[in-house]
Amino acid sequence: MTQVGNGIARVTGLKSALSGELLQFEDASYGIAMNLDEDSIGVVLLSGGEEIAEGGFVTRTKQIAQIPVGDTLLGRVVNALGQPLDQKGPLIAQQARPIERVAPGILARRSVDVPLLTGIKAIDAMVPIGRGQRQLIIGDRQTGKTALVLDTIINQKDSDVVCVYVAIGQKNSTVSALVNTLAEHNALRYTTIVVAGASEPASLQYLAPYSGIAVAEHWMEHGCDVLIAFDDLSKHAVAYRAMSLLLRRPPGREAYPGDIFYLHSRLLERAGRLSETYGGGSITALPIVETQGGDMSSYIPTNIISITDGQIYLETESFNAGVRPAINPGLSVSRVGGAAQVKAMKKIAGPLRIELAQYRELASFMQFSSDLDDETRARLRHGERIVEVFKQPQYRPTPLVYEIIVLFAVQNGCFAEIKIEDVQDFEYKLIEHFLNWQADIVEEISRTYELSPDLEKRLLEIIGHFKTSYLA
Ligand code: ATP
Ligand code: MG
Repeated sequence: MTQVGNGIARVTGLKSALSGELLQFEDASYGIAMNLDEDSIGVVLLSGGEEIAEGGFVTRTKQIAQIPVGDTLLGRVVNALGQPLDQKGPLIAQQARPIERVAPGILARRSVDVPLLTGIKAIDAMVPIGRGQRQLIIGDRQTGKTALVLDTIINQKDSDVVCVYVAIGQKNSTVSALVNTLAEHNALRYTTIVVAGASEPASLQYLAPYSGIAVAEHWMEHGCDVLIAFDDLSKHAVAYRAMSLLLRRPPGREAYPGDIFYLHSRLLERAGRLSETYGGGSITALPIVETQGGDMSSYIPTNIISITDGQIYLETESFNAGVRPAINPGLSVSRVGGAAQVKAMKKIAGPLRIELAQYRELASFMQFSSDLDDETRARLRHGERIVEVFKQPQYRPTPLVYEIIVLFAVQNGCFAEIKIEDVQDFEYKLIEHFLNWQADIVEEISRTYELSPDLEKRLLEIIGHFKTSYLA
């Protein structure tokens, strides 16, 4: 080894080392061969590198980095190399897999047609996510990005979906609060958390998402549906840039190296849904990207938008105005999730989305005029109620059948006479009413998730009666 510093070592003599190979140093720590130059190798260290001295020996391992996988990881918090960070003792995993792997090919896949329910009304209705989909969550800092992911994980409580949450470049205190929240909501038992904190070497932050998806792949190949979140890929890109600059790779746009697109495409391509012959499992990926000043068109966001199947765009303005989750319905899309949406939801959500869009346009236009005709006033009233119903506090995922009932009610104008400040109360009481007194109809909807004209008529009647007694 000729040189060491800043988490990078330069090694000579290992002529046949492979790109991405794990190399071992004298103090038993490891590094990854990244730059294979003609007369030396650029190695990123996986530890702080304080113990490594120039002139020391380096040996090949002929392996790439691996991570333990399997059910023993459920409920555990590990670093990018799979070493436990919680106080729950050593990890006894039966198997390990390389963290880098080629994504499944076209023939091994099938299309998305099973919903992955978030329990968040606005998402399940307007930007539905299917199992195997890659849906980007994008927005400025502090707009509720992590909260969306957290609620989605909590909502898998009664489903068969296993979750992996990858925290990249975050403060340890933030991650530990998140772990506690998951534990409080009984969601840790089906979740693995992979952490490469802000204080860790860039090399580990770079590896963490690949480690996380390797853990997920193991379950997918055993026929499970897995949800994985990367929080967030902006910090991942920054870590990779730091590494690349130290390795003296030529900087490109915004000083990112030329292969920054490949960094994320080879990660997200590993999500998807396998065909029956390959076990039928899936990985749904929710990458998070942080924007600056709402700019979706900068380098990293546009890259990732083009690799994903849609995005949920969160905006600061709505967030601060109390519209939470702060989803912008115009800029948020889901390109494949519609195929996975249940019939009832699809039928209600279509018109709802249009009415909401019309309302937003009308509202921005109408702030300048005072005398409105009755029809415009009614449309504004209707839109306000849709916005209100789409507001949802944290940690309160709604089961699908109640999402359908509430959205059916608002779409059919049943909220029209409810005062705006009572909308949420009315919604909760309506759900409670169905829960306690209308078990038959709830069961009937849950059987097929389809609304026949007869069922719609009965729903309208029940909601009408309930409203009369609520208003009285
Ligand atoms: P960062 O950029 O710092 O990672 P973020 O975009 O991930 O932020 P969160 O941490 O999820 O944002 O949320 C920011 C704050 O807003 C948190 O205090 C969270 O509790 C609150 N919050 C998020 N969603 C909601 C919601 N639906 N209702 C009420 N409060 C919310
Ligand atoms: Mg966050």
